[in-house]
Amino acid sequence: MYEFVRSEGIYLYDKNGKSYIDLISGIAVNNVGHCNPDVIAAIKNQVDKYSHQMVYGEYVVHPQIELAKTVAKYLPSNLQSFYFLNSGSEAIEGAMKLVKKYTGRSKIVAMRNAYHGSSSGSLSMMSDEYYSGSFKPLLPNIFFMDYNDLNTLDIIDEATAAVFIEPIQAEIGYLPATQEFLNALREKCNETGTLLVFDEIQTGIGRTGKLFAFEHYNVVPDILVSAKALGGGMPIGAFISSREIMKSIEDNPILGHITTFGGHPVSCAAGNAAVKYIFKKQLLDSVQEKEDLFRALLVHPKIKKISGKGLMLSIELDSFKEVERTMKRCIDRGVIIDWFLYNTNCLRISPPLIISKSEIHEVCKIVLQSLDE
Ligand code: PMP
Repeated sequence: MYEFVRSEGIYLYDKNGKSYIDLISGIAVNNVGHCNPDVIAAIKNQVDKYSHQMVYGEYVVHPQIELAKTVAKYLPSNLQSFYFLNSGSEAIEGAMKLVKKYTGRSKIVAMRNAYHGSSSGSLSMMSDEYYSGSFKPLLPNIFFMDYNDLNTLDIIDEATAAVFIEPIQAEIGYLPATQEFLNALREKCNETGTLLVFDEIQTGIGRTGKLFAFEHYNVVPDILVSAKALGGGMPIGAFISSREIMKSIEDNPILGHITTFGGHPVSCAAGNAAVKYIFKKQLLDSVQEKEDLFRALLVHPKIKKISGKGLMLSIELDSFKEVERTMKRCIDRGVIIDWFLYNTNCLRISPPLIISKSEIHEVCKIVLQSLDE
């Protein structure tokens, strides 16, 4: 077991002062680096003013407005209404309720091998019985289709409230959706009056070189779900939609979704600073170059394939044994790397976006040495 007592930028430090490069960002959370100075200043400033005050509704929580305004500037006109929560799973739960309330339908279509969270609703959208079977009964009326498979689109029909999809499916080993598939989903949803929901909990906040991955595709969802890096290292989640859709959850019953801590002022202040930092430092501009550098440097007979997009990359090896061995050697050499829930033959690379090119050279050398050994 490892225990880190301090972190800064892309580095974590153990109690003996040994440094480790973080190649996973606490799974796609620390996009602006650990202990980012702007984020720390925002947290301190907010804590000095107030932390929890009121459960919102009649009361305005100012840092929520600020974060929503910062993010909304980069979103299309139908994604300007925010509901903040505490985590990704919670935001997915909220979105699952919203789609039912707005459409008056109960059927939901999800993708095989998706991961949307561990709460009962989000877990219901997990196709693999191995992970969900022990927790039944889960939500009924959830149907699965294969990712990137155009042949199963007919499962989406006039009874379907929504389709939930990650534009890059994370836990199967960073598998990007094809343009064709997202186009077809959008079209089918339009035809059947189904809402299209993008889970950008892992892909969002700059990880792929755009603030949200859907921007690469030019396919706009009806509901966007964000979390993880949206809080700059603090806990947060949000579902985002049009005012028209969001309004449907406000009444009948009154307060259709309630949260005590959701959109906590300190989390929102931290997130606002983090998102602003991404643009202040133009971090999105270098993501493609950094991806290219990882791909160019990570050439080794044991690497069968690299998939993913931007700074969410998956390195396919022969077996889980090889993955475990490489991970252990990397950690011994001061590089933290990880694997995937559903694809144990792959190593996960999702470093803070602030990683420099020379640091990429350094970590790739260590990964290659670890594969060699
Ligand atoms: N959706 C995706 C795509 C995720 O990667 C995760 C977290 N790994 C979640 C949902 C759930 O988020 P949380 O752990 O914050 O509940």
